[in-house]
Amino acid sequence: MAKKTRIQRVTGMHDVLPDDQKYFERVCSIAKSLVEFYGFSKIDTPILEEAELYSKGTGSNTDIVQKQMYTLKTKGGDVLALRPEFTPGIARAFLDHGMYTWPQPVKLYSSGPLFRYESPQAGRYRQFNQFNLEIIGDSSAVLDAQLIQIFYNILSELKLKNLIVEINSIGDHQCRPYYKKLLTNYFRSRAASLCADCRRRVRENPLRVLDCKEEKCQRIVSQAPQTIDHLCDECHTHFKSVLEFLDEIEVPYRLNPHLVRGLDYYTKTVFEIFCEDNQKKEGEEFQPKIALAAGGRYDGLLKLLGGEGAGAVGGAIGVERIISLMKSQEVKWQENPNPQVFIAQLGNLAKRKGLRLMEEFRRAKILVAESFGKDSLKVQFKMADKLGAGYTLLLGQKEVLEGTVIIRDMKSGKQDTVKLNKVMEEVKKRLKK
Ligand code: ATP
Ligand code: MG
Repeated sequence: MAKKTRIQRVTGMHDVLPDDQKYFERVCSIAKSLVEFYGFSKIDTPILEEAELYSKGTGSNTDIVQKQMYTLKTKGGDVLALRPEFTPGIARAFLDHGMYTWPQPVKLYSSGPLFRYESPQAGRYRQFNQFNLEIIGDSSAVLDAQLIQIFYNILSELKLKNLIVEINSIGDHQCRPYYKKLLTNYFRSRAASLCADCRRRVRENPLRVLDCKEEKCQRIVSQAPQTIDHLCDECHTHFKSVLEFLDEIEVPYRLNPHLVRGLDYYTKTVFEIFCEDNQKKEGEEFQPKIALAAGGRYDGLLKLLGGEGAGAVGGAIGVERIISLMKSQEVKWQENPNPQVFIAQLGNLAKRKGLRLMEEFRRAKILVAESFGKDSLKVQFKMADKLGAGYTLLLGQKEVLEGTVIIRDMKSGKQDTVKLNKVMEEVKKRLKK
């Protein structure tokens, strides 16, 4: 008889089990409270968009659109795509909702899953999560620096160590065409040593070769002409100010003259944040570097999507890559604060009083733990100890009949009996000390 095969999960996709949920929650809650401090508001856009949004916005000759996009045809004949990145969807929403009329710049954050048909490997999945920021409606260099600072602060608040920002400027429509010509000439004469993808990239967009993850291409890239030597005055001044602002706020950065982003819409500043732990060590095999976060300025995107031009800068953190670094750096944090009070009980009547008492404590915003299903006092005390409760309230059969409770100070082991109707007052008094 044929063996029944179990349905497997899709390659490159992951279940997030309960043990890992706390990492996701930690990353998102730290990031959320930080960006709200900096004046960002949340936006959710649909996971499905017209595929054309990405071919127009991200760029039809990018890897994301050419190779990595999940597209589907609906019954009605529309060609849709699972979002491979946030920015075009948010730019579309900006235009749809007339956000030009809102106070500028509009600062938006989003988080959620993205889909890219990549070759699955460490740190590279087909469904992954980003925490994404956009500042739309302002061209000032100070915002580039502030955005990088915010990403750096999120990673630092997550207690990640050895972080470094790599930064570059890729110019704009004035200076980039000339630089592209220089690059094309440089790569053309070395085409034989490039990978097949890069030989195509030289024809379509030579900047893309700089971003190739193949070792042989990276070797050629290391000697390639650098954008910063060919910036126009405006881009040069902009880049200089971004770096001055970064110096002022003491974010550690390093110029990477060959850093580009894989997406078409970037102008001027581009950056990626890495952890130095992951860097190649002497004698080790070549491994492409794994970026934790990335972004840049994209002053051209809104116009590309049919809107008026507007300065914009944005970026995203790769949540799974952050989590894997939190694990390898053994980052610890206090997950849930210890309960202030544990209610231990013996017998049905005590359970009834315990349930009531728990509600009173909840309303008084005092953290309580219990184990009402257990009958053994020994087990309950053990649990109170394990949870690190400050006090245990013991409702035994005798106490319930007498209308009293025993308060045990878990540190000193000292016990006192108080009236049940006075217990809240007594606990509050002790917690204040
Ligand atoms: P890479 O160069 O590593 O392919 P990217 O340039 O495609 O990254 P972005 O589109 O800028 O990445 O996304 C921002 C961040 O999202 C990256 O720095 C990374 O942390 C994360 N990221 C990108 N692709 C993946 C993926 N396939 N799986 C997990 N995380 C990813
Ligand atoms: Mg990529």
